[in-house]
Amino acid sequence: MRLRVLLVAVLAAGVAAASAHASARPLRASDAALLKRPPTPEEMIAQNVAARLTRLHPEVRCGPLGISVPAGALVTGITLIPSHGPAGYFLLLPEMCNYLAWFREDPLRYDPSACTDSESGCEKTDELAALALATVSHESYHVLGYRNEAQVECYGVQSIWFVATSLGASVAEGQRIAQFYWTHIYAEREKATPAYWSPECRDGGKYDLRPKSHSWPS
Ligand SMILES: [Zn+2]
Repeated sequence: MRLRVLLVAVLAAGVAAASAHASARPLRASDAALLKRPPTPEEMIAQNVAARLTRLHPEVRCGPLGISVPAGALVTGITLIPSHGPAGYFLLLPEMCNYLAWFREDPLRYDPSACTDSESGCEKTDELAALALATVSHESYHVLGYRNEAQVECYGVQSIWFVATSLGASVAEGQRIAQFYWTHIYAEREKATPAYWSPECRDGGKYDLRPKSHSWPS
């Protein structure tokens, strides 16, 4: 099943780095060139959303993540977390950046409710778009200092709607995309990537960001 092949692999990592600097100063030498150049339009899109979500000003660059990934796995973003203070930047796979830009051009193209013919491949593109939105929200919580991947992923899922609406989607579409991610991607994590899954990620669970609301995940 094509869907499963992709989903088994999806990770968005946070890696602790030994540095006291909270600016966008490179935490790895290999990131220096990326951070040195001005952001592309796609990177500006991601940066603006991350700034809205975190109320910080992380820099975002699209490029190689600089980590080795197990065969068959897909890591879509990475945040280097300094030992003190917030992270100054995160990196996204170029494919994720492309989806952010395409999403902003035409959010309705990625509305899961419009995907009625799974043979057309729309499920896969909807999934990659949802993944791109979720990667921005996931990394944003790392920027805020959270390190526990299950907690970060859960908070990220609950903020997919925010990323979607920041890029021009209606609230209703943002909620549909979050629901799509929840059922198609998050549900796979319990077995596929258990470090990114928690039974407390649910309405009323420990990681529920809006305990007074029974709407889930957004
Ligand atoms: Zn992570």
